[in-house]
Amino acid sequence: MFGLKFFPIQNITFKKRVSSGKRMPMRSPICSVLGHVDHGKTSLLDRIRGTAVTAGEAGGITQAIGASIIPLDIIKKVCGELLIKLNMQFTIPGILFIDTPGHAAFTSLRKRGGSMADIAVLVVDINEGFKPQTVEAIEILKTSKTPFVIAANKIDLIHGFQVSSGFLIPLLQQQGKGVQDVLDRKMYELVGSLYEKFSVNAERFDRVEDYTKQVAIVPCSAKTGIGIPELIMVLAGLAQKYLEQSLQCAVDGPAKGSIMEVKEEKGLGLTIDVILYDGKLRIGDTLVLGGLDKPIVTRVKAMFEPMPLSEMRDKKAKFKPVKEVVAATGVKISGPDMEGVVAGMPVRSCAQAELESVKEEIQKEIESIVIDTDAHGITIKTDNLGSLEALITLLREKGFPIRHASIGAITKKDITGAESNFDKDPLLSAILSFNIPVPEDVSMMSKKVKIISSNIIYRLIEEYEAWRAEASKNIEALQLDAVVRPCKIQLLSGYVFRQSNPAIMGIEVVGGVLRTGMPLMDKNGRELTAVKTIEVDKESVSELKRGKQAAVSFPGVTVGRQINEGDMLYSSIPEEDFVKIKELKKVLSADETEVIKEIALIMRQSNPVWGV
Ligand code: GDP
Repeated sequence: MFGLKFFPIQNITFKKRVSSGKRMPMRSPICSVLGHVDHGKTSLLDRIRGTAVTAGEAGGITQAIGASIIPLDIIKKVCGELLIKLNMQFTIPGILFIDTPGHAAFTSLRKRGGSMADIAVLVVDINEGFKPQTVEAIEILKTSKTPFVIAANKIDLIHGFQVSSGFLIPLLQQQGKGVQDVLDRKMYELVGSLYEKFSVNAERFDRVEDYTKQVAIVPCSAKTGIGIPELIMVLAGLAQKYLEQSLQCAVDGPAKGSIMEVKEEKGLGLTIDVILYDGKLRIGDTLVLGGLDKPIVTRVKAMFEPMPLSEMRDKKAKFKPVKEVVAATGVKISGPDMEGVVAGMPVRSCAQAELESVKEEIQKEIESIVIDTDAHGITIKTDNLGSLEALITLLREKGFPIRHASIGAITKKDITGAESNFDKDPLLSAILSFNIPVPEDVSMMSKKVKIISSNIIYRLIEEYEAWRAEASKNIEALQLDAVVRPCKIQLLSGYVFRQSNPAIMGIEVVGGVLRTGMPLMDKNGRELTAVKTIEVDKESVSELKRGKQAAVSFPGVTVGRQINEGDMLYSSIPEEDFVKIKELKKVLSADETEVIKEIALIMRQSNPVWGV
């Protein structure tokens, strides 16, 4: 049965917001669409808009800057009887969908302590399942505590799927058994991945039993429109039921929002595209914006909405001026002195009397993000404040310290800064760069600095971890090169080439690697000599591996006195080297590990606490 008595939500990702006590009108919830590339984010947004336009004919949706608002009466038309079954009083005026899908747009919608998006749709191609950006999207949604619904897209591609019109569940029930089985299997693969990777419980939206503990999955097809009404319905219901308090909006209060994009527009100069989540903004209002290191004060000179399609043809203008806007919406603002504003930064309007306190508030917000770094650590550079914050959070979760975090291209100063870590901890001498090009001359500047660049945050961290593992192995190997390593050789009977000055004998390496210069001791721990030369087939070599034989010269000893045919000799490891080797023992080969145990036993015969 299509159980629609209640609505899905997932408590683990829920935002806690404080009620102001007084009941205020509700604004539209802000919804973002995330997911792996090509899984259908753009198609889904197009389809949602298209569905709304068809249902309402002209004027079905309101186009805002960077966003599309679907009013409630259109949602009601699209969802039809589905909503009637819900028996819910809707007071949200509609849903605002952010037009640009993806993680970058989502992270630039930052708001102190989370995201400005109240809710999100995570698009997963059901035939492909979880991909790196799916995982990253969930990490980002979890970090910002944004509740989400999964759109399990492209169900029409399941072999044998019959496309027809109508609501989702009856349509799924009409499919052949094979299709239903495949769909169920793929759904449970998704459910399994979510649980395994994130301990998140998920379930198909109509089968969810406890909507406060499970993420709803809506199977759909952006291409055919199947499941789109159900998806919109789930979003509307979630927002109405669970975000009621956080969606209360002061319609006459100061405007609050976040900068989505900073753009140079022909004829307008520098403009900012802002998504407002609270209050009202009018021409002439004083605005405080976040800059990179200090608040920027401006005045709203003009505001713009997109030109309606019908008028656009006549006037060829992209924008239509407006006098005031009310949250939630997206608007383009032009004003004086806005140089230095950054995407992802907060926007507040205020009365003149409050200017100083609002500036202070914004200053604190800037500092909380940019200056909160460690004495030693990696350097991170990103394209906007939201991605910077997301990357900082994810790296901190993994326990990686961050020395410097900022927006923009990698500079020479970043390189020297990163290099300063090298002596203390070379593994921190790295720069992670997200979504910004790395000029070749900068990347070649220092051999001591590792630059990792990607447009997927998750990849960036993965690559850094892989580099760390590899680099730490190399560093350990280098450290091991500086110590006397474990080695055991046997002096072969019948191969005395010279008795003394220096003694030259045939030997075989029993364990470890023999090296020139290696000090050698007997089985009683007495240091006798050091390897002078190693010869294999009359060629000098500097090292000899286990199982190999060679003629080796030993100065300072005489065959028949200190050394004899058949003797076992060991490398004579200084105690401090032994301690170092113990720390790096995972780099030793199995035979070296055996030999070092024997050496410790020998040394402890005369000194029981040797190397302890
Ligand atoms: P995005 O990168 O996530 O925005 O993905 P797009 O929306 O650009 O879609 C990628 C490709 O998948 C395009 O060729 C779409 O036409 C196709 N696509 C998207 N949704 C569906 C769907 O539901 N069914 C099918 N068959 N193809 C789809």
